[in-house]
Formats: sequence, structure tokens, C-alpha cells
Amino acid sequence: MPNNSDLPLIPTSVVGSHGLPGWMYSALEQTELGVFGATDEREMYDDAVKLAIQDQESAGIDLITDGEMRRWKFVQSFYSRMSGLTLQDPLRKLGPEGYDSVPRYVAEERITVPEGLGIVSEFNYAQKQASHALKATCPGPVTMSIHIRERPSAYKNRLELANEFVGPINAELKALVKAGAKYIQIDEPSHSIIGGTIDDYVDLFNRTVEGVDARIGLHVCFGNLASRPRFERGYADLFPKIMDVTADELVLEFANRELRDLDVCAQITEGKDVVAGVVDVKSFHIESAEEVAGKINKVLEYSPAEKVGVVPDCGFFTVPRWLTVRKLQALSGGAKIVRKELAG
Ligand SMILES: [Zn+2]
Repeated sequence: MPNNSDLPLIPTSVVGSHGLPGWMYSALEQTELGVFGATDEREMYDDAVKLAIQDQESAGIDLITDGEMRRWKFVQSFYSRMSGLTLQDPLRKLGPEGYDSVPRYVAEERITVPEGLGIVSEFNYAQKQASHALKATCPGPVTMSIHIRERPSAYKNRLELANEFVGPINAELKALVKAGAKYIQIDEPSHSIIGGTIDDYVDLFNRTVEGVDARIGLHVCFGNLASRPRFERGYADLFPKIMDVTADELVLEFANRELRDLDVCAQITEGKDVVAGVVDVKSFHIESAEEVAGKINKVLEYSPAEKVGVVPDCGFFTVPRWLTVRKLQALSGGAKIVRKELAG
């Protein structure tokens, strides 16, 4: 994200999803019940995207997304575009929402994605609405596989399953570039579930983005379903191998971990840019612009400003819309303070 002439120093962006407006939860329930026709449904999603874009632009975010408003729970909506999958009941239906209470799929046959992932049409619509620079986001092959059970399966293990998604994602990314995407972020929070090594993870990523002529970001966090992480929350084990990914920038989560691991920014900016999470999406605490500026300045202790961008830790899917807006305003305000300080 940094080093780009159309963006300011220490550009602000988002990781992807925006807080859904309250009415949309109700509308989605009605859709499930068959109350909405196809036109009503399209209008609902279009309106939601317009709101997400408007919220981000009004808050002053430099590089925005469509809020991922047409997706459900990050990856769930992609499964409906795949063949070879059979839906299974969640393992647990009672109690709080968690990683064990989402719908699961079994790959009874090899998976195909006959019509593509649909991200190009999301991007085409958003491009018509946005006046700020626009970023496209796409789950990586490992993350795309997370709600598909490892057993029983047409695949011998999760690595082979994840590998099946490399081709379809690569084709989608190339089509995004043709549609005008200049910034693409791949989301791979789930690196530790493939059961392979960090080398397998890097290899999958590099084949996924091969030949994709855009600025590429890799977002690695620790999971965010129901605002809960899923993995041990440290980045140190990924280094130095993660630097072999063919990405221009790493987009990492720091705010929720009280800036733990911030020293990795020094390693990252030896070869790439770092886009640091400085707003906590897992907390109701409303950061002030000054507080965010303080966190950005901590990042700058490790990395030169021209190699730094800032974001919230992860998507806002589990955050109410009003709170999402307040947090975006704090992010934008914090970056403005630091730019002013640096200007002298
Ligand atoms: Zn994330």
C-alpha cells in the first residue's frame, strides 16, 4: 500500500469487511425465508455496498474496499459457488457462536468453481461507486478450505485440498487486474491449519499470485470469528521464511495484542512494506485519534514512514456499524496527526 503516488504518506486502509447496518441482518433473515425476490436481494446488497463505501470515504480512509458486504462470514458465501461439496450440520448448535458452530462441508468429489468466485463482479460494482482508491480482497487457498472437513474427503489431506484452490483463485486475481484492480490483498489467517510447513504455506501463496500484475498484500491474523482468535497469537515463528512470499506488503494484527511482536516490522521493511493493525476490532473501546497516533509512532520506531501503512487489525464483520465508523475516524485522525508531526 505505501510507495504509491496516489496515496499519502502512511496511507490508511481497511482489512476488508465493514460493519453491517442493523437492517441488513433483518433483510438477510427475510432473504433466507424467501420473502425477497432476486431484484430485492440485489438492491439490498447494492445499498449495503454504497453505505460501506460512503462510511469509509467520509471517515477519510485512503484505500477502501466494498466492505465485503456481499459475503457471509468471510468465506461461507464462496462455497455456494463450488461444486463437489455437501453441506453438513454444524458440529455444535447450542451455546455461543464459535469456530465449531459454523456450517461445515464435505468434499465428496473434487471441487470445481465453474463460474469463478464472483469477486470480479463485486469489484466492478464498487469501482463505479468509489471515489477513493479501491482494494480487492480474496481469501487465500488455505483459508478458502477452512470450513471443509479434512475427513471424510476426496483429498488425502488439507494441503492437497488447499492446493485445489490455487488455480481458481489465481484466475480470479488475473481477471480482477483486467477489471482494473491495482491493489489486491490475500487473506490467509489460517496458516497453522494446513498441517504442512511454513514452506508449504509460502509455496501455495506464491503459486496463487503468480503472474498477477497488481500490488499484492498478504493479511495474516489469528482469526476473528465472533471476535475471537483461533490460533496462538504470535508472528515470530513465521519469520524469516514468510519474507519469501511474493507480496509487496504484509498486513498484520497488532492493536489487540498490545503491540506484541512489533519488532517484526523491522525485518519486514528490509524487503517489503508493513501495513500495521493499530485499531482493535475485537474491543468496544473507542480509540482516540491521539491514541492511534501513539501506536503509529511505535511502529515508526522500527520502520521508515515511507514503508508503513495502517489499518484496523482485521475486518469489521463482528463490529456494529456505528462503532466501525468511530474506529475508522480514529484511524484516519491518527494518521493525520503523525503526518503533521513528520512534516515538521
Ligand atoms: Zn484478519
